[in-house]
Amino acid sequence: MQFQAVYYEPDALSYPLGKQLKQQYSALTWHSIESHNAISQMRRQPNAAFASMKRNLIIGVRKTHRYTENQKISDYLVPYTSSGCTAICLYCYLVCHYNKCAYLRLFVNREQMLQKLCRFSQKTAKPAVYEIGSNSDLLLENTVTHNLEWTISLFAKSGRGQITFPTKFDMVEPLLPLHHQGKTIFRMSINPERIIRTIELGTSPLFKRLAALQKMYDAGYPCGILIAPVILLPDWETQYEQLITQLADILPSKLKSKLTVEVIFMTYSYIHRMINRDAFPDAPELYDPTLMSGRGPGKYYYHGEQRRRAELFLSQQLAQKMPESKLLYMC
Ligand code: SF4
Repeated sequence: MQFQAVYYEPDALSYPLGKQLKQQYSALTWHSIESHNAISQMRRQPNAAFASMKRNLIIGVRKTHRYTENQKISDYLVPYTSSGCTAICLYCYLVCHYNKCAYLRLFVNREQMLQKLCRFSQKTAKPAVYEIGSNSDLLLENTVTHNLEWTISLFAKSGRGQITFPTKFDMVEPLLPLHHQGKTIFRMSINPERIIRTIELGTSPLFKRLAALQKMYDAGYPCGILIAPVILLPDWETQYEQLITQLADILPSKLKSKLTVEVIFMTYSYIHRMINRDAFPDAPELYDPTLMSGRGPGKYYYHGEQRRRAELFLSQQLAQKMPESKLLYMC
């Protein structure tokens, strides 16, 4: 992966992964920072510099390790080895208040995080599922650190229950030969190809994502898809109907019969609007005041009749075209 500069916490260089990254990116300029959470050089940048900031790599030590209970596909959300990524989805929920924190941050204390996870997993009343990819795209991160390969192999040996992560990328080759023992659930996030091309900038195209899903299934991983986030552009019915038809036609029946499906509607915010207006003036407008209303300060979500219609439409499409797959939830 091509980065333009590295911003690092000096402490990070005392960890094996920190040392490895220092070597790997020795040709780049390294800027020392106090904290990966507040990089003043980035905060001072205008919104228009958003895409260029995403080409920086941030290296630090994760200090917060609190698990959050969750009632979707996983039982716990686990802060893990990275946050943010190098792609630019125009709705990315990791874009934060200071608008500059969605760049890729790598946390080098991975041994501490995996050890905690394995120990925790041994102590719960029942085997549980741990979402390790809610703050980043771990498959993308893996191309820099190989952390995912390391995690899947070690969790298979010392963890109890299952780990899971979603992705919008297709670089699954290094995961295929691993002895995962069915303890990793792979979830591919998908959207109509036109949305991927114009709104999920820098992610893998749909056909590559579906091929990667197939490969992971063939390698014995439990698999799921997320249709996410559903974006109600003016022609949403046509776009999502085509997408579900494509899934039904391309994916083999055996895979579909084992597949879990999650459907998540887009949420958006005032911060996204301002960044996208300045940084991507030609991108499609995602804020539609006739369909969206506020949830918390400056946050928007789909509501009302159109939302209900979309939920009904998608559940009917899935029931008709992919009856073998299990719809877990829509939210
Ligand atoms: Fe955000 Fe995921 Fe898109 Fe990266 S791939 S920009 S983490 S939504």
